[in-house]
Amino acid sequence: MQADFHMHTVLCKHATGTAADYVKSARKKNIPEICFTDHAPAPDGYDSKHRMAIDDFPKYEAMIRELQECEYPKVLYGIEADYYKGCERFLRPWLARQNFDMVIGSIHFIKDWGFDNPDERNVWDSIEVTNTWSEYFKLIRKMAKTKLYDVVAHLDLPKKFGHIPPAKDLNEMLCPALDSIAEAGMVIELNASGLRRPVKEVYPSLSVLKLARERDILICFGSDAHSPEEVGYAFDSTFKLARDAGYTHCVHFRERKKLLTPLIHDV
Ligand code: ZN
Ligand code: FE
Ligand code: FE
Ligand code: ZN
Repeated sequence: MQADFHMHTVLCKHATGTAADYVKSARKKNIPEICFTDHAPAPDGYDSKHRMAIDDFPKYEAMIRELQECEYPKVLYGIEADYYKGCERFLRPWLARQNFDMVIGSIHFIKDWGFDNPDERNVWDSIEVTNTWSEYFKLIRKMAKTKLYDVVAHLDLPKKFGHIPPAKDLNEMLCPALDSIAEAGMVIELNASGLRRPVKEVYPSLSVLKLARERDILICFGSDAHSPEEVGYAFDSTFKLARDAGYTHCVHFRERKKLLTPLIHDV
């Protein structure tokens, strides 16, 4: 069983279960390694409904550090931090002071539209799909250029509700984005949460992953669990996708360093 490098805690206000329950769930499913990556605080007020308050951050660290004392699974300490205009003012000095094992970078907003938020889904009916994706990938390129993050979260997230541009348009915007990701040395996660959404697909799709593979971009696995039972979610599907794209290894993280690990499935 591979490691699960993406999961949340109650501190972000939209996940359930105690962090200890996530660890228990991993133990029960025989997942040897998990990394907590809750939504990072943003003292400028950005999307405060979906992230921990800055005052809760010491609680987050203490909670994970305590769980690291267990023997199995190995528990790692990470964070999911959004990229948006102006985020660096806080993030750059703050990340430099923390001792995370990995930092996931994600984009959940285009301007002030939470494009993956079910409450704002109807906006998709009044916009142009290809242009919207193109805006999204411009942000991905900007995110990569900051070199603040280790991993790109859910790379083709705009497909969540099924709005997907024609393949030719998608390739045109994807290639420069992947080039920036490769140049920054960022890893792409195979995020299983897409299987729980209307699109019913892992993020990213096979065609996207193949283009990443061509550029020698490395991968890691994440369930994006927001409840204990989602830890290790649909691992078989993400594993198969990695293999289908030609991957033989994935990355585990330690203190923001990449450990290359062979893809071995013992089922
Ligand atoms: Zn979340
Ligand atoms: Fe996310
Ligand atoms: Fe997440
Ligand atoms: Zn997420």
